[in-house]
Amino acid sequence: LYVEHPLGAGQSVPLTRDQAHYLFAVMRLGQGDKVALFNGADGEWLAEVAQAGKRAGVLDLIRQSAAQGTPPDLWLCFAPIKKARTDFIVEKAAELGAARILPVQTDFTNSERIRQDRLQAHAVEAAEQCGGTYVPPVDDLQKLGRLLDGWPEERQLMFCDEGLAGPATVLAEATPGPWAILIGPEGGFSEAERKRLTELPFAHRVSLGPRILRADTAAVAAITLWQQALGD
Ligand code: SAM
Repeated sequence: LYVEHPLGAGQSVPLTRDQAHYLFAVMRLGQGDKVALFNGADGEWLAEVAQAGKRAGVLDLIRQSAAQGTPPDLWLCFAPIKKARTDFIVEKAAELGAARILPVQTDFTNSERIRQDRLQAHAVEAAEQCGGTYVPPVDDLQKLGRLLDGWPEERQLMFCDEGLAGPATVLAEATPGPWAILIGPEGGFSEAERKRLTELPFAHRVSLGPRILRADTAAVAAITLWQQALGD
């Protein structure tokens, strides 16, 4: 269970109404039952239900059961698409171990707004589902151009370009370090964006194979391709 509370020896964690409902009504836990907790910073902790109510409860921490994990330094930058598909991208990126998720507005992006809080909640759920201790932060929507203006030069960029025909690029010679993946929207990248992206010294233009993938499929394929070459 994810909690927004520091986790340490001797601590007690008060539950929110939703958490109490989930643990005691949905999972049917009661006093004395054990729960694994994480907050994205202090590792995983084994806790015991000390108080169980309908709308509230308290968990007492017993001991740390896993150290805090840190994923490889990989950002996923993607242009938001339809709501359900954007949710999917965030969920899968969190499952696959992206360190940070950055929604970007490109020339052909249709959405001008995202629900950052909803997307962050999806990242939390994904981390809970796969027993992770890390939750990637989801940024608010920002313009691709502005992101590139302030780009940290040491971070290499895997620019996934559907215009690059041919088999999936092999990243075998890519060097480790901070990386980011960029996935475009349904309409792909504009010519101006493609020109700028291909000229950036830190960008690698990459094919994900001869077929044009939907953006949500492309995000999963790109993270997997990167993980295979450079992840852990
Ligand atoms: N409308 C575009 C077209 O027909 O050319 C397709 C865009 S595609 C649905 C969305 C994004 O997924 C692309 O901008 C790109 O980042 C990524 N993508 C999809 N297929 C790809 C491929 N074969 N190689 C590299 N990137 C790909």
